[in-house]
Amino acid sequence: MENNLFEVRDLNVAFGEKVVFRDFSLSLAPESITCILGPSGSGKTTLLKAVAGLLPNVSKVTPYPCSYIFQEPRLLPQLTALDNLAVVLPGKKKENREIARKYLSDMELSEAEGLYPSELSGGMAQRVAVARGLLYDAPILLMDEPFKGLDLALQERLIKYFIKHWEARRKTCLFVTHSILEAILMADRVLVLQSGEQGAEILFDKTFDMPREQRALGDPDVDAFRSELHDVLISL
Ligand code: ADP
Ligand code: MG
Repeated sequence: MENNLFEVRDLNVAFGEKVVFRDFSLSLAPESITCILGPSGSGKTTLLKAVAGLLPNVSKVTPYPCSYIFQEPRLLPQLTALDNLAVVLPGKKKENREIARKYLSDMELSEAEGLYPSELSGGMAQRVAVARGLLYDAPILLMDEPFKGLDLALQERLIKYFIKHWEARRKTCLFVTHSILEAILMADRVLVLQSGEQGAEILFDKTFDMPREQRALGDPDVDAFRSELHDVLISL
């Protein structure tokens, strides 16, 4: 993939009087995970939508296809959990359902495969959406608070699963979260966004190059990064 796989250049987004981005630029290293944190309303979701080309009057940021795990599940109500996954795969229906079944099982959702979105709990629907986003094969992966609302044990298992899945594919990933834990365990780079009069600014930008498999709470470097990030976020 070329080096300019992901480059936001001079992004401008406003809703009426509200300027969310003014001449905002950001480029991401290919095959990296970048986490974005920041207060509600700072522009995180808007940035992902701009990248995906989903904002009217804002030209698409990257010509490459994106897989997008939205902040809300956005499942197709007329399809079962299994078919919500299978439908994003090209090719033969029967094989696709087998692949989809594997992804549901990885998300600890095997028992939910025949359920419709209205029959799923919020956390289950969210995990179906995560599975669909990981299943859809695109060079860029956008994720908006993918593990929110899950109990801590499940969140930790899914973080581990995500890392394993990601390491095998290494899609350039832009990942919005409020979770310091997710950022310190998963990110190659962490950004904190803050809204300002002139639009969003990057308040904090740090590369964390410790190999992911070595990262654990209690490690001095991981803990130092965690408190640094905590101090930045608490000050906002
Ligand atoms: P975050 O994801 O960081 O919580 P958003 O990107 O959703 O923030 O929103 C950034 C700002 O843009 C907020 O002030 C929000 O109210 C505003 N905004 C987002 N989408 C719209 C929209 N469709 N219409 C009007 N204002 C919007
Ligand atoms: Mg948001």
